[in-house]
Amino acid sequence: MNEGSSTWPQWLPLREELRSRTPYGAPQVDADARLNTNENPHPLPEEVSRSISESISSQLASLNRYPDRDALALREALASYVNEFIASAGGVRPANIWAANGSNEVLQTILLTFDGLVAGFSPSYSMHPLLAMGAGKRFETITLGEGFSLDMNSAITAIDSRKPSIFFLTTPNNPTGKSMTLAEIRKIVDAVARNGGITIIDEAYGEFSTVESAVDLLEETPSLIIVRTMSKAFAFAGARIGYAIAREEVISALQLVRLPYHLSSLTQLSGIAALSHAAKLLQGVEQIKSERDLLSRELIALGFEVVRSDANFILFGGFTNVSAIAGWSSDQLWRELLDRGVLIRDVGISGYLRVTIGLPDENRRFIRTLREIISK
Ligand SMILES: *Cc1c(COP(=O)(O)O)cnc(C)c1O
Repeated sequence: MNEGSSTWPQWLPLREELRSRTPYGAPQVDADARLNTNENPHPLPEEVSRSISESISSQLASLNRYPDRDALALREALASYVNEFIASAGGVRPANIWAANGSNEVLQTILLTFDGLVAGFSPSYSMHPLLAMGAGKRFETITLGEGFSLDMNSAITAIDSRKPSIFFLTTPNNPTGKSMTLAEIRKIVDAVARNGGITIIDEAYGEFSTVESAVDLLEETPSLIIVRTMSKAFAFAGARIGYAIAREEVISALQLVRLPYHLSSLTQLSGIAALSHAAKLLQGVEQIKSERDLLSRELIALGFEVVRSDANFILFGGFTNVSAIAGWSSDQLWRELLDRGVLIRDVGISGYLRVTIGLPDENRRFIRTLREIISK
């Protein structure tokens, strides 16, 4: 059956809300420069891949056994990382951490654990509503204001009237790249909590941000779960490791629905080995940040409008400022770039496209191609 088809055979006892749907995913098409899924463009440093392979080979004979169900050694390594690099007060223990196959599995597990309505801002990460639907939950959106900024009063009013039990907040936000301040996050978390809900702070791009992590709020309030991933900053998307940081009771609750042995021994060992090189891997983040700032300036120089990004991608628009493409749709510009070997992302926001920061050569290729298109 064709993946793009939504005409499912009648004999399949599909859930009604799934009948009209097709599987989610960014197009995995070939291109010279693939700048569409916010991956880290740097290959793993040699010393890191060597550690991983040594660690895995020493354990291969034990693959006849199930993995550590509680992934304790990995959670210890994650707790040390969080205390050293993320939480300014420290104090995060392995009991405050749960790891899974990418933060998407963490998010799905949270949605399967808690009851009630789910809500979040729009535009934001498109997987949040999809994961909610998969878990059989309704998702209500609160639209961001002018320039994708947060209008705090209307957000609080919406939370008070809809009383979501799970509220998604992504910071830095995807696809805009904008961060929320800790003071703003605290207001949202408090509003959700006084209505009986819990806030999920998706910090997938936390390492690229100038704003502190919401981990520091855990001390004052129990009603939040910080979700992070090794996919982006750690250049580890292929290994699939994401984690939640929360109060111990919250982590225990997640164990009610998680699959037994969900995280393979190979994944656990890879994660531990990679985390032992955290400082080295974070150097790659610094390079991406400076490339991001350079690319922003180049886009602005070409006449585009750039949303100031705190992540490893840039949302840009303002096509009408650029005479050769004034009146073009996002899709039109996306295709012209792809025809010339550059794959970026049409995130479904009219008049905008998102580009992931790649290696310097890929970024220059993107700018050169864009310049070719607009000077035709
Ligand atoms: C990329 C991304 C994730 C990460 O997913 P993994 O499953 O950890 O690879 C989560 N949240 C947001 C907002 C993202 O952009």
